[in-house]
Amino acid sequence: MTKKNIRQRRAAASFSFRASGAGKGGNKTAKVKGAKIRAAAGQVVAAAALPQWTTVKIAEAFRRLAAADPAPRSELKHADPFTLLVAVVLSAQATDAGVNKVTPNLFKRADTPQKIAALGEARLAELIKTIGLYRTKAKNLIALSQRLIAEHGGKVPRDRAALEALPGVGRKTANVVLNVAFGEPTIAVDTHIFRVANRTGLAGGRTPFEVEMKLMQVVPERYRLHAHHWLILHGRYVCLARRPRCEKCLIADLCKWPGKTTLSASVDATPEAVGSAQ
Ligand code: SF4
Repeated sequence: MTKKNIRQRRAAASFSFRASGAGKGGNKTAKVKGAKIRAAAGQVVAAAALPQWTTVKIAEAFRRLAAADPAPRSELKHADPFTLLVAVVLSAQATDAGVNKVTPNLFKRADTPQKIAALGEARLAELIKTIGLYRTKAKNLIALSQRLIAEHGGKVPRDRAALEALPGVGRKTANVVLNVAFGEPTIAVDTHIFRVANRTGLAGGRTPFEVEMKLMQVVPERYRLHAHHWLILHGRYVCLARRPRCEKCLIADLCKWPGKTTLSASVDATPEAVGSAQ
């Protein structure tokens, strides 16, 4: 074991000890400092070399996630590939809930590339101004709509390179569109999947791309189409950033995160914690 790994394991062990209330100050320490400590421990563990999952255990994790939610769906409101693309572009560094507050009204006025382009940047910005980075997103959506009209007959292309060539569209957005609109078995690594994959040891990686490549290797083919949604929803509602709900977790016995046992025994998730992670 390297010196770095030893330091990381000591930090994780220290976290477990303190969060359990066994340290100086007992439960008070866990309550006051718990969230910060857990967040720090999550980072430490994310970088550590956790034990590898066996293929049998990976299949079992996805079997359980699939049994609990056989047909997971995107939480972004949309009606077709174009409105999905718009919603996903708007969701960058924003919550799905925030985007869903804006899109019904937007799509009532403009739900095609032609109509979005006709709105113009200022009017579009006004319609989406409650979403972060709305000016940049308005500019990108106008340019994206014009490109779709000029180069793709007003249709969203079912092609990664063509999607990623559109303004405001990166690999993650392309993966979501390919998966949700076209049924391709892609895995879009957002903040939730990145955290869950690293924390649990399922697919460690320093970047979203590394995690995506690892997941594509280890997720059994029959689960790949929905893996993206199962992992996002697991991260959004159970494996929360600051206060993972290990005591409610379907895959707690399979997860490699050292802090899970302590949390299962001593920490209850609060509604506030659930909300803060969305
Ligand atoms: S036990 Fe579940 S909720 Fe807890 S860290 Fe592991 S995957 Fe996340």
